[in-house]
Amino acid sequence: MSGTIETVGVIGLGNMGLAMATRLAARGFAVLGHDIGAPRRQLAAEAGISVAEDLAPVLRAADALVFSLPLARDVEAVVTTPGGLLARRDRKVVVIDSSTSDPGTTRRLARQLALAGHGLLDAPVSGGPSGAAAGTLTMMIGGSGEDYAQAGPVLDALSARAPHVGPSGAGNIVKLVNNLLVAAHLVTTGEAMRLAEAAGLSADEAIAVVNSATGRSAVSETMYPRWILPGTFDSGFSAGLMRKDVRLALELVGETGLDLPLSAHVGRLWRDAAIADGDDFTRMADFRTPGETRDV
Ligand code: NAD
Repeated sequence: MSGTIETVGVIGLGNMGLAMATRLAARGFAVLGHDIGAPRRQLAAEAGISVAEDLAPVLRAADALVFSLPLARDVEAVVTTPGGLLARRDRKVVVIDSSTSDPGTTRRLARQLALAGHGLLDAPVSGGPSGAAAGTLTMMIGGSGEDYAQAGPVLDALSARAPHVGPSGAGNIVKLVNNLLVAAHLVTTGEAMRLAEAAGLSADEAIAVVNSATGRSAVSETMYPRWILPGTFDSGFSAGLMRKDVRLALELVGETGLDLPLSAHVGRLWRDAAIADGDDFTRMADFRTPGETRDV
């Protein structure tokens, strides 16, 4: 039995999860949140979200679940929590996993959940915490058509678009492809702006022209004006999570047997950059100081 969705459980109340929980509550869902960290639970409670200290009750009470977790192993730990979803038989629950995860883990967990009568959609997102709060994310959905239809009301509340890309894992694949491009664009745009400055033109002037010419990208059009030119570096996405995405993308390259030399080099640059995992990922495109001495 599927039924309507009234209560949405949100697991992981970090930068993205808390913004999504707030958005779902504003759209009229009863939201029940959980985070492993007490400070995030506290922040969510202050934002008016009902929070549970323990995970299992949320997994048992929700009509649908949204996950926003750092790593594939965190998603696996939540899916397989004893006394949680795998033990539940009262209705079919679809998990909307918005974490950036790997397709292999997603497919394995989707099979495990299907055996227990539940669904799992890989539903990674683009648009950051501000897009999550506004419900304007782009979500990339992998999974069955039936699960996609059941999750529709939640996807509608969170996103401006949520295309059904293909079977389980397809959303993860397109997200990793997208973020491999973003990782490269951050490197190339940062280098190009350093070149502009060294050659006597300010990055502000150069980026304005690039944005009406053919070298533009989301890095030049959105990230430069919002976070890099003003030097705030507060997009809400950490360099550590971006390193994870690059790592997962390169693992996928390895699984396919392709030789992608520029992608491999981008991976090395991200791995070795003098940026802490806790720093904002947009620091990778800082034009002010070269390589090893990026501190701003
Ligand atoms: P975050 O680190 O801010 O939040 C993750 C939260 O999950 C933390 O609060 C952590 O305590 C919690 N958590 C970890 N393990 C848990 C568990 N077992 N049970 C319950 N809670 C647990 O990360 P974020 O920036 O919100 O990103 C979340 C996911 O979304 C990641 O997979 C990231 O790659 C992806 N993503 C983030 C952005 C962004 O702009 N921040 C954009 C697109 C995709």
